[in-house]
Amino acid sequence: VWNICMDLVSKSIDPLAFQTWFEPIVPLRLEKDVLTIQVPSVYFYEIIEEQYIDHVRRALHDVIGNSAKLEYSVVMDKGQKRNHNPYTLNLPTANRADLRNRAVSPGSNNDQPAIKNPFVIPGIKKLNVDPQLNADYTFENFVEGDCNRLARSASQAVAKNPGKTAFNPLFIYGNSGLGKTHLAQAIGIDVKQSMPEKTVLYVSANKFQTQYTDSIRNNSLNDFLNFYQMIDVLIMDDIQEFAGKTGTQNTFFHIFNHLQQSGKQLILTSDQAPADLQGMEERLLSRFKWGLPADLQAPDFETRVDILKHKIRKDGINVSPEVVHYLASHINHNVRELEGALISLLFLSTINRDEISLETAKSVVDKLVRKSQRELSVDFIQKTVCKYYGLDPESLQSKTRKREIVQARQIAMYFSKNLTNSSLSAIGSKIGKKDHATVLHACKTITNLIETDRDFKSQIREIESQLKC
Ligand code: ADP
Ligand code: MG
Repeated sequence: VWNICMDLVSKSIDPLAFQTWFEPIVPLRLEKDVLTIQVPSVYFYEIIEEQYIDHVRRALHDVIGNSAKLEYSVVMDKGQKRNHNPYTLNLPTANRADLRNRAVSPGSNNDQPAIKNPFVIPGIKKLNVDPQLNADYTFENFVEGDCNRLARSASQAVAKNPGKTAFNPLFIYGNSGLGKTHLAQAIGIDVKQSMPEKTVLYVSANKFQTQYTDSIRNNSLNDFLNFYQMIDVLIMDDIQEFAGKTGTQNTFFHIFNHLQQSGKQLILTSDQAPADLQGMEERLLSRFKWGLPADLQAPDFETRVDILKHKIRKDGINVSPEVVHYLASHINHNVRELEGALISLLFLSTINRDEISLETAKSVVDKLVRKSQRELSVDFIQKTVCKYYGLDPESLQSKTRKREIVQARQIAMYFSKNLTNSSLSAIGSKIGKKDHATVLHACKTITNLIETDRDFKSQIREIESQLKC
């Protein structure tokens, strides 16, 4: 019976979704009209109920009849055998609100009090999760200024009451090097200090993406999902990296919902405000907008001085106020560069056994500024690519679909993405008025070509060396 139902369902939904959510299901029994299936986790149950129940219901009605009912059984714990006292969710209807209010009893063990919240599975042990935090990224080390006051205080509020403030998710955004990672981690460190029993996890969006694809490859998606469902405070860094990655976005969406519904705290960072994020599914964006978007601005002069002084004090080095002011007034983009200057300065003064003089400071700043002036522009990349292929630089802007021009455009997009800080949409609008999806597609195409075509690869190498000289 189950197999026939699954045949029907598989015809009506996306094959990947079917593989992910239905293949792991084990049919347990059919008694009268009640079909009991075993799902690997509560998460599966939620997904099926939320997204696929109509398909399942239709199939059950077709195969068993209109009085068909479905019950789920969730495996409690890896160590337990499948049929040994499974935690049964009685689920005659597909109505989640109804389900929430229903008292659910853990299997046959009737003398235990009924459990109100079906999403809490008794018997899962708390794992000891390494939170992946950098001990230096504390609130104390995060110097306050006008540029970060709101984000900093919202973060502190979240750290005091994770999951219980209106800031869920807390969405921290700002340009590179302005302290997003630092501030997000400070929340984690603070929570771990005051509430050691909480499971905190910092993960970059890229790492999450890799873990997710690995888990699909290794057939361990369940473990992956179960792991993320356990986290009390989840810090997801640089979520703009999810752009265009639909599978990862879907999975994150469900983890996000699950955690939020269970009162867990989410902290997200991004280089764009939620409204400006490209390549994200609308339903995910609308979730991001639920909480508080808190931005980090470039620090003003006063804050730059304060940050330098803080670092100098912390590292116990001796730098004159004159040098501090020189650095703070000449390096004004971001905090990472400010730190970089300080480190170079320190390095130079130790190898030359100098005290840190204004002269040394000037030479360091000179180098840094020259380096950032050299940063490539999208225009320069376009010109260089056209020159290499003997094309008119204007041709990339034309609407033509001539192969060589389409490819030159794609190459220019590829280099712009990899060698500049421009966003995908900015690159697209500069190169032939395309959108971010076209740029993403171009980058994929070129990456594939480089991997498969040796001639092409050496052309790209040559262009790259012309760009960099
Ligand atoms: P982002 O994640 O926004 O790119 P980071 O959090 O990595 O930036 O910050 C870059 C560096 O600047 C880090 O070493 C961080 O400690 C430092 N930093 C940023 N903002 C501050 C601040 N307000 N006070 C002290 N250090 C800061
Ligand atoms: Mg960062």
